[in-house]
Amino acid sequence: MDFTLSDEQLAIQQVSRDFAENVIKPRAFAMDASGEFPLDIIQQMGALGLLGLPIPEQYGGAGADFLAYCVALEEIARGDASVAITMEAHTSLGATPFLLFGTDEQKKTYLEPLASGQKLWAFGLTEPQAGSDSGGTQTHAELADGEWVINGSKMFITNAGTSMTAGVTVTAVTGVKSNGRKEITNLIVPTGAEGYVIGPPLKKMGWKASDTRPLSFDNCKVPQENVLGSVGGGFKQFMQTLDAGRVAIAALCVGLAQACLDESLKYSHERSQFGKPLHDFQLIQAKLADMATEIELSRLMYYKAAWLHMQGRDFTKEASMAKLFASETSKRAADQAVQIHGGYGFMDDYPVSRYFRNVKVNEIGEGTSEVQRILIAKQLLQSLR
Ligand SMILES: Cc1cc2nc3c(=O)[nH]c(=O)nc-3n(C[C@H](O)[C@H](O)[C@H](O)COP(=O)(O)OP(=O)(O)OC[C@H]3O[C@@H](n4cnc5c(N)ncnc54)[C@H](O)[C@@H]3O)c2cc1C
Repeated sequence: MDFTLSDEQLAIQQVSRDFAENVIKPRAFAMDASGEFPLDIIQQMGALGLLGLPIPEQYGGAGADFLAYCVALEEIARGDASVAITMEAHTSLGATPFLLFGTDEQKKTYLEPLASGQKLWAFGLTEPQAGSDSGGTQTHAELADGEWVINGSKMFITNAGTSMTAGVTVTAVTGVKSNGRKEITNLIVPTGAEGYVIGPPLKKMGWKASDTRPLSFDNCKVPQENVLGSVGGGFKQFMQTLDAGRVAIAALCVGLAQACLDESLKYSHERSQFGKPLHDFQLIQAKLADMATEIELSRLMYYKAAWLHMQGRDFTKEASMAKLFASETSKRAADQAVQIHGGYGFMDDYPVSRYFRNVKVNEIGEGTSEVQRILIAKQLLQSLR
């Protein structure tokens, strides 16, 4: 077993680390305070190839492997959570479905500008009344005169309303299957489509500079060929999309947890009490050791899930486990980081205060921790049936 990253993975890790350290991190405080979407940073990342890392070069991407993408995401998250989730939602949820399920023409029209980082794309699954129960989608679409007419709404959609967003892929009910279940289809809705209304940005506890919006579809019309994948294949497709997305979210969480450890190590060296630096106290050392151990374990978990994915093997259980453990690791790391900083950790001037707010949502987005436990148990129980 060899845990060494390849030369290419190491090079991508270094580029991402340098960009996070030199460009993103110095702006993180201001981005959080203003909540403004960092368009110029995202455009620079596009130019560096960071928005299409796992997409083959023939479609405008960097042609890197999935682990390289996750490793890059970890580094970007170490710089800032809002930038990292913008990259993740765009790459895993926006662009990748075009690679997996798109026609040649759709790849040319939609995937190339996304993979080359000129445009962003969103993925609209969640609805006001359908979150964890994603099969409970109420948005529906009917075919009329060669067009899909979409009605309904979506909630909490990342990247839908930035000035570089080209559109959103939405799930919609397009009929009833022979088993009586809803037939769900993924439809491509370009920004500016008739009847597509992008709501105002939502105000959030964390990830403040990422773009999160409600969307509504009021007799929204898109051409018949705007089906992504097959009619009725939508449910299976987004499940597949979310499996890989969860590995990427685990990597993002590791980056956030690592940032908590970085700041804690620095602060415990600088701050003295009782005539000694904080890191001389064994109770502080125990916190640092626990953080580092959980981070290492979370990193190994996402490496393994990414490796299984790259081998073409089943990785559903490992993806859920990595996402579950890494998100909870990042929450514990942020909690301990604030504790190590004492009262200063509660002040906005210190990054750990922001980290504390940024980690919570990882236990919610792309499947809550409860949903991950349900999925893991389902996999375990399958072997008994
Ligand atoms: C900042 C942000 C960005 C997001 N970006 C996107 C995006 O780009 N695209 C997109 O489609 N969605 C996005 N989401 C939505 C996200 O995926 C959902 O919030 C999440 O799936 C949970 O759905 P919900 O919020 O409706 O909670 P609910 O499903 O209502 O859950 C509420 C609580 O009940 C629990 N629960 C639900 N069902 C069960 C059960 N069967 N057993 C036990 N407990 C249960 C949940 O775990 C949770 O604790 C985003 C969310 C946020 C906050």
